[in-house]
Amino acid sequence: MRRHSFLVGSAAAVTAIPLFGARGRDRPLRVLLGSGDVRPVAGGFRFGGREYRGTFSRGTDGTIINVVALQEYLYSVVPREMSSAWPQSALQVQAICARTFVLRHADSQRPYDVVPSDLNQVYEGVSTESAVGRAAVDATAGKVLRYGDALAQVAYSSCCGGHTESAAAAWGGRPVPYLAGVPCPYCTASPDFRWSRNVPLSIIERAMAAKLRGLGRLRNVRFGRWDASGRAGTVELVASSGDAVVRGSDFRIDVGPALVRSLLILRAFVRPSRVWQTQESLQLDGGGNGHGVGLCQWGARGIAISSGSVAQIASFYFPGTAIDTWTNVSPPPTNTIFRER
Ligand SMILES: [Zn+2]
Repeated sequence: MRRHSFLVGSAAAVTAIPLFGARGRDRPLRVLLGSGDVRPVAGGFRFGGREYRGTFSRGTDGTIINVVALQEYLYSVVPREMSSAWPQSALQVQAICARTFVLRHADSQRPYDVVPSDLNQVYEGVSTESAVGRAAVDATAGKVLRYGDALAQVAYSSCCGGHTESAAAAWGGRPVPYLAGVPCPYCTASPDFRWSRNVPLSIIERAMAAKLRGLGRLRNVRFGRWDASGRAGTVELVASSGDAVVRGSDFRIDVGPALVRSLLILRAFVRPSRVWQTQESLQLDGGGNGHGVGLCQWGARGIAISSGSVAQIASFYFPGTAIDTWTNVSPPPTNTIFRER
């Protein structure tokens, strides 16, 4: 990611907004917003058509950084990630996950801690806030997910399709004990619990053009290297003059998550297109929406509807972790939000 140089914002403005509300020495979060005009409004400012809480600092290149209390950042993030119509205990688990995630990913080595996109967490200011979202954030103030004496590695996605994914299978690296994948019977109400898509091979050809260069026309698509959760690790692109094998996650992102909702593929075969009878298309039947690692959001909703508590939801999807206050957790090495406490 591009690096920026910044003028230092007003120290008074920074220390006036403590991280968890009552701790005067804690500094707020710095969220990189981008370039554009800023107009102050009561309690914050407007930027890029959106209203933000807190204050801002400006880089030497004009880039705007939102300097905002962590609680207020979470007011925006939680309802963006989970419907405000859902049960409060599910929203509180989402708040704990979002807080843990941002504290783990805040990078003090940069002029900003996080970016407002799904590279970290989507943050769109006041526009996405809701009263129940703010209540969930306030009710869990300071609460994080702990494993041992450290912040847990938190992930979440919309619907696991019946079995959450292991972090190691999805992203490589060493197995994470509390992200090994669990059977999940709670997300069947999701519209994506089971899905079907019919994808013209021409769309896949265009999406995978770099991989298919010199291999001729795409003839078939085969999913393989199934893991314990039932997800495909690889996709073989069978073309008229040769084959190419790509990572499942790359295939899903390149063809598009709207078409390939997950890699939990239950059935896949090539057939004449429903829409363009002259073309062939890939019929895909699958389960779930998203990478499937960690919290299954629709499952959290299901457990909450069955009167499950915040702790029960968290320990189901992150077995072996505990909900604790952030002051009981060792700081990540590059995180001065923790060091300054
Ligand atoms: Zn699930």
